[in-house]
Amino acid sequence: MQRSTEKLYKIFKLEAEFNYSNRAVVGGLEKLANSWAGEARADGLAEDKVQQVLSRLEQYPNLDGTGRAHALNEIGQVLDIAGIKHLPEPETPAPEPNTVLEPEPVRPLPPKASKPSRGSMQKRSAGPAPAPNQATARGLSASVTAVRGIGEKQAGLLAKLGIFTIEDMLYYFPNRYDDYSELKLIQDLDYGEEVTILAWVKSVKTFKGHNNRKITQAIVSDDTGAIQLMWFNQEYQMRYLRKDMFLAVSGKVEQYMGRHVMYHPDYEQVDQEQLNTRRIVPVYGLTAQLSQRWLRRAMHSVISYWAPKIPDYITEYILEDADLLDLSTSLMEIHFPESKSSLRNARSRLAFDEIFMLQLGVLRQKNEWNQLKSRTFAAEDDWLAARASHLPFQLTGAQFRALDDIRKDLASGRPMNRLLQGDVGSGKTVVAALGLSIILHNGAQGAFMAPTSILAEQHFASLKRLLANPEDTEAPLQDEEIRLLIGDTPTKEREAILTGLAEGTVKLVIGTHALLEDPVQFKDLQMAIVDEQHRFGVAQRAALREKGENPHLLVMTATPIPRSLALTIYGDLDLSVMDEMPAGRQPISTHILYPTEKERTYNLIRGQVAEGHQAFVIYPLVEQGENDENMAAVQEQERLQKEIFPNLRVGLLHGRLTPDEKETVMRKFRDNEFQVLVSTSVVEVGVDIPNATVMVIEGANRFGLAQLHQFRGRVGRGSAQSYCILIPENNDSAENERLRAMESTNDGFVLAEHDLNQRGPGEFLGTRQSGYAGLRLANLTDIHLIEKARYYAEQVFENDPTLAAPEHQLMLDALNHFWPSKEGDLS
Ligand code: ADP
Ligand code: MG
Repeated sequence: MQRSTEKLYKIFKLEAEFNYSNRAVVGGLEKLANSWAGEARADGLAEDKVQQVLSRLEQYPNLDGTGRAHALNEIGQVLDIAGIKHLPEPETPAPEPNTVLEPEPVRPLPPKASKPSRGSMQKRSAGPAPAPNQATARGLSASVTAVRGIGEKQAGLLAKLGIFTIEDMLYYFPNRYDDYSELKLIQDLDYGEEVTILAWVKSVKTFKGHNNRKITQAIVSDDTGAIQLMWFNQEYQMRYLRKDMFLAVSGKVEQYMGRHVMYHPDYEQVDQEQLNTRRIVPVYGLTAQLSQRWLRRAMHSVISYWAPKIPDYITEYILEDADLLDLSTSLMEIHFPESKSSLRNARSRLAFDEIFMLQLGVLRQKNEWNQLKSRTFAAEDDWLAARASHLPFQLTGAQFRALDDIRKDLASGRPMNRLLQGDVGSGKTVVAALGLSIILHNGAQGAFMAPTSILAEQHFASLKRLLANPEDTEAPLQDEEIRLLIGDTPTKEREAILTGLAEGTVKLVIGTHALLEDPVQFKDLQMAIVDEQHRFGVAQRAALREKGENPHLLVMTATPIPRSLALTIYGDLDLSVMDEMPAGRQPISTHILYPTEKERTYNLIRGQVAEGHQAFVIYPLVEQGENDENMAAVQEQERLQKEIFPNLRVGLLHGRLTPDEKETVMRKFRDNEFQVLVSTSVVEVGVDIPNATVMVIEGANRFGLAQLHQFRGRVGRGSAQSYCILIPENNDSAENERLRAMESTNDGFVLAEHDLNQRGPGEFLGTRQSGYAGLRLANLTDIHLIEKARYYAEQVFENDPTLAAPEHQLMLDALNHFWPSKEGDLS
């Protein structure tokens, strides 16, 4: 078999296994056409055969399941490939290229319609915008069933798309558009283009193709030529197509046996509203049983009625100064654009609104916080310097600056709301500890919340060393005044801690979200610290803050965010950035290795252990579930211990160990009783083993960039050269973008930006959801847009912080609408 033929053979077999869902080739079988043709010609295949295969591949996505099976069988015949002359029929009912609920009837054309002069495409008349009235707001929140033509059944389908009200419809934006605005004569059609033609129906018929599928064929013509339109297994088209109808037909020009054809084109009569042809056509996300045609029509009727009635909450001054399209036009244009440029303007106006509202919300939040009063805490220079001098190292400049910010906040009389941002290993914990020492020194209480038990335990140990060291005569705490509270703390101890906190004898508690539970009450909580804040939701931070009366809040994150973005999203918080690593850190040498090269990794580990160092081996997430993930780690530990490192001690850490067991393992690893630690992703966050120099990540392609960077941050914490080895599951995934990015830089900021571009802010920012639900259009990497929206929001806010001015009434309403829970803490 020729190579080019063999390739098709394999792909078609696979496609049949996929039940002809057009998934065997990424992007669809049609993507295969060009490259395959080149190979086939090189293999010496006759040109007519090449063409026959090509035309079938190209039409493939337009066919239903049965049609696809036949197309592949036909190619099998043409190329004489034994294995694919008789591929099975699809198993389930043939999927229609477009699921049609009830095709709406096309009204027969009144006789003798006059032919419009070509090129004079009817302009949509926007009509004069009615003045906004009181009823508008109420109308917008009405159920979609208020729209004529939307009954309970359709409302149920729309609900699946998250559309419940008229307003939801207005803001259900198209996923993409088909540009059918180019109008052409039939004689000028070119293969492959997407166009609209205006033509008369000459004939319509349905017949059985030689493999039994029903083909509905319409021949249409204009003055310059004729073209055939084809539908497979859509006999109902016969009901709407009549001889002599004058149609606008939009679709892609394809080729079949050397002649032009359009498969499953959109069409509508020329005298009807143009929603599906002759324009830039919106393509909406659908759900089963809801057709694109139906939704377009429903959208159009809602939008043309409601959009003009919506008053603009952006003031005229800003509209003009920022050069923004008005809201009504923007809403109409984003659904049914007049042109590409007006679509662009509409999108940028609506994206502006999203950032603008987000920004107003955080500014308002910040303003409210600034009205609150907190206890002031002053720290003497000498005293603080003495505290710092007890550390086993010199603070970095960045640590000093962050500490200074915190100190000022504590002395300000207003509650601190600060985000401390610093890459993994930049030394945030010690900054937090010194901040805490200020309030502890004054007899108040503090709370420190970490996302996992392991991390809480580790913080507990290091805070104890820093704040309650018996050798340090000026240490602010006694041993029993600092306690650990996690889900697993024994009942008796827990009771004692709760009592101690309520009575004020326990000064500092470190824990997980167990700290948030009701029975946890403080006598005098003055400072709350949240580590790795991306792991916590908005509500959890708020709950911690509620435990005291306007306590000072410090949230810490290793997720580096570009500054303009941080200012927008965390605009309610003050920001301290630690952009400096402790001295002596070397970049971690990072390499992608193929799975077959594992022996090299093992040699690296042996070498490092011989020098007294230690290694992590992270075992990948397994799709079947957490248990399997743990099982895989268990097996890997056994294998490494028995077969690879019989002379070393290999530890094992996974999610099913009890917290006690976990702690034992971590302690043994810290004390170098284990030289190698096999672990699932539970070690991801924050754990600190300065002696570890090797981080091996198996199945690395399965992890997100932020997570990989966190793993890597587990090593390189001492002064020795460290290594991070990324092993993807198979050779193909070695091309993985994220892994390449990891290899290319150690800089968390660079990686964050990369991640942001790749996956958008949702993934990246974790649980801080409240503000983003509203971000549909705004691209948080569009710095220009962000800065523009921020600029105007700040301007408005400076002049009128409560939005009390009459011209800001609508803006205030919109803001309350955008941030429904006004009190919903945004930190
Ligand atoms: P992260 O910012 O990732 O939370 P940690 O606070 O866990 O970082 O600190 C990482 C390691 O660096 C710890 O072992 C800590 O003791 C050490 N460290 C912190 N600050 C310094 C410094 N200025 N010089 C040297 N080592 C430091
Ligand atoms: Mg940390």
